[in-house]
Amino acid sequence: MATIEIETRQSTELIDITGKVKEIVKSRRGNVNSGICVVFTKHTTSGIIINENEAGLKSDILALLNELIPKGRGYLHDKIDNNAHAHLRAVVLGSSVTIPIERGDLTLGTWQSIFFVECDGPRRREVYVTVIKE
Ligand code: ZN
Repeated sequence: MATIEIETRQSTELIDITGKVKEIVKSRRGNVNSGICVVFTKHTTSGIIINENEAGLKSDILALLNELIPKGRGYLHDKIDNNAHAHLRAVVLGSSVTIPIERGDLTLGTWQSIFFVECDGPRRREVYVTVIKE
């Protein structure tokens, strides 16, 4: 397993980690020609998603999270931690993605990028990348 360390700067933010994940997968190329790669966030107020890295779409995704799950809507968890919206957004996003590996590389589609989604930043975050041989 490898770790990607991320310093987030905004309260809510999309960070493209595709390059870093690819580097890790390629470093195992001698060992893992075909297999799967699991990208996992160990934090309860962040998510991992796959989508297109286009500036307008990234803003649309953040706007969607705000609309679906606004901050401070009388959530019970806000009584102890004041960040229920961030946990709830993380629930919707999910905490991991799995990507097939072929010829020692991720089989992402042309428009697919892997994003770490910060929901309660700025914070120091860790993402785990596990590469498994088929
Ligand atoms: Zn909390």
